[in-house]
Amino acid sequence: MEKATLPGRYANIIIDISHEKVDKTFQYKIPEAMKGFLEPGMCVQVPFGTGNHMRKGYVIETTDIAEFPPEKMKEIATIVKDGVSVEADAIKLAAWMRETYGSTMIAALKTVLPVKQTVKLKEKKKIVCIATKEELTSAYGESLRKHQHAKVRILAELLKEPVLPYELVTGKLHVAAATVRSLESQGIIKVEAENYYRNPVQMEAAWETKKELSHEQQAVRDSILSDYEKGIRKTYLIHGITGSGKTEVYLALIEAVIKQGKQAIVLIPEIALTYQTLLRFYKRFGDRVSVMNSTLSAGEKYDQCIRAQKGEIDVIIGPRSALFVPFANLGLIVMDEEHEGSYKSELTPRYHARETAEYLAKIKGASLILGSATPSLEAYNRAQKGEYGLFKLTKRLTGGNLARTHIVDLRQELREGNRSIFSKKLQELIEDRLNKKEQIILFLNRRGYAGFISCRSCGYVMKCPHCDVSLSQHMGGKLVCHYCGYERASVTKCPSCTSPYILGFKAGTQQIEEQIHMRFPTARVLRMDGDTTKKKNSYEEILSAFAEEKADILVGTQMIVKGHDFPKVTLVGILAADLSLNDSDYRCGERTFQLLTQAAGRAGRGEREGDAVIQTYRPDHYSVIRAAQQDYEAFYEEEILYRELAGYPPAEHMLSIMITAKNEEAGSVFANEIAAYVKGLQEASEVCDKVKMIGPAKARIGKINDIYRFVIYLKHKDDTNLQNIRGEIEVFLDKKECRNEGVQFDLDPIDSF
Ligand code: ADP
Ligand code: ZN
Ligand code: ZN
Repeated sequence: MEKATLPGRYANIIIDISHEKVDKTFQYKIPEAMKGFLEPGMCVQVPFGTGNHMRKGYVIETTDIAEFPPEKMKEIATIVKDGVSVEADAIKLAAWMRETYGSTMIAALKTVLPVKQTVKLKEKKKIVCIATKEELTSAYGESLRKHQHAKVRILAELLKEPVLPYELVTGKLHVAAATVRSLESQGIIKVEAENYYRNPVQMEAAWETKKELSHEQQAVRDSILSDYEKGIRKTYLIHGITGSGKTEVYLALIEAVIKQGKQAIVLIPEIALTYQTLLRFYKRFGDRVSVMNSTLSAGEKYDQCIRAQKGEIDVIIGPRSALFVPFANLGLIVMDEEHEGSYKSELTPRYHARETAEYLAKIKGASLILGSATPSLEAYNRAQKGEYGLFKLTKRLTGGNLARTHIVDLRQELREGNRSIFSKKLQELIEDRLNKKEQIILFLNRRGYAGFISCRSCGYVMKCPHCDVSLSQHMGGKLVCHYCGYERASVTKCPSCTSPYILGFKAGTQQIEEQIHMRFPTARVLRMDGDTTKKKNSYEEILSAFAEEKADILVGTQMIVKGHDFPKVTLVGILAADLSLNDSDYRCGERTFQLLTQAAGRAGRGEREGDAVIQTYRPDHYSVIRAAQQDYEAFYEEEILYRELAGYPPAEHMLSIMITAKNEEAGSVFANEIAAYVKGLQEASEVCDKVKMIGPAKARIGKINDIYRFVIYLKHKDDTNLQNIRGEIEVFLDKKECRNEGVQFDLDPIDSF
């Protein structure tokens, strides 16, 4: 075994590349001449079955561990050199994810390969307006009078667009099939098979609404395109506030790339994937674009992958999993709102879509464009270092100015005797907007009726018996655990000291709603939080109701600060800006800045000026101040300094090792064993010695669902050092007998544990 760059005398090979068959690997001997050359994703010919017929297979990994006696093992015949295939790329990507984030090869393959499920190919349909403009207008007026909301929605769209994709109407617009049929029998529309509109020329006439790009936008497009034409492939970050025209730039770039016969993947967090956004892509690219999201069935998702593979679509839009749609000639990946936490997978392999997109772009020869109003520290740091191209879009194209912001010190309010949830400033402005019939958004980043319940006499806190978290009080007095769903009746006496002063502290969305009813009895209120959006579609329904001005005030949690645009909103109240600063997590400053910036940005989207009131107990915190000033760069400078001083990502990489166990004692012993093993590695190697270890310690939430949790953190500037140590730990764990404890790795975790 001379110059083997990759370990292994044996290769694990899959014959059939599909999600269902990845567990079925076959082991082959690697011939002497191939040693060190085989890489995951390579296509090989192998003798297969009793007849030893030659079959094509793919290498998924090489190993020194023989699964059965080597003398009975067949040898790989040849390496197939027919260029790259979609399958090979998928396996390469999986191998990289396995290396980077830690998981089994099978789990990584299952992440990148679509679940095969054949569905009967549904006919793609379109809704075509066949009425005249006058007929349409009068039908619209009539359904308005009759309060036929679904009809109003579809007719309003038809007034703007004569042709609508059927699935958009029944999906995002929530129009029932019966409503469509009723319009059909009225002779207003016709439902047609998609093929009818396959003619791109016709499509262009009906759909195209290309905008003349602004100078700023043009500069970004031209610069990226000129790189692209020169064959330069890299990552770009577009930093621009909402409404500054980022999406329009993506559209222009995608169009240019498609013209060269390439395809594009557009990642958008599911929560921001609104009907309006989708429609813009449909209008530009017609039926060459498709959507991937969680409401699709496995069969429908598989169908999208097949369409991509066959070259039937050029653009796919979706959340992080859309990365794995197998395009043959991928030219561009766009990742909008790149700072969003939902881009990190919570399942093993715990991949981050940004890094994964970067690797995918590399193996596919594509460029990657990141966009955000509040870039992640990771992305901005790399842009600062010149690793990413950086562009700024500074002007809001929708008109409207940034809101005036007011920071209110809640401690001062209390000193002045105001014990209500609303500061004087906020009360004044709410009254003003109610009088002017303008809309208001009140934002709180917690859910439930009240925060934790504690005894004011002895400090006892009501906790979940299964999880190490406090219970929250809901309407009707129920106490609920947000981690496992445990419920119990409320208490009137402290279980510890029997004092009757056991109370909830912080206000929740329900309590705010009650307070509004008390103070502003005429105001119409909508509430949006985890409780009111449990039902399918309720999220969209609440937002549409607010957009249709069926309420004056929308109260809610993080969900309301994303996506939708409400031009009539001229006041945003952020009730307790610093709640998110209390998370014991190094990213809490960044998250707070993002949330406050986004929330404040909700006011003043239309023609009228807006105000944002930021209520806080920490008016001097830089996240609060910089968000109020809408000054990202200043925030970045302060935050990166902190990360560098404390050695947190992106200054250093961090590997968290989470140990879970049913038995607390056993878990602790096991965590200590792993830590001792790491210490041994540190003593044996200078490189490992430079890695800093923190812990083992009880996790921030020490127990969930009766499972105890311990963590060890490893930190180092170079992530390959962390990956090597993880590899060693994996070997160590493999040798240990399988027990009742679990170990999960997470590189650069989003939430600390
Ligand atoms: P972002 O993605 O940064 O939020 P968008 O691309 O969605 O910004 O643009 C915001 C609004 O401005 C949209 O309604 C869009 O149609 C409009 N818009 C974008 N670019 C232009 C332009 N060059 N001319 C006119 N309107 C534009
Ligand atoms: Zn007590
Ligand atoms: Zn619980």
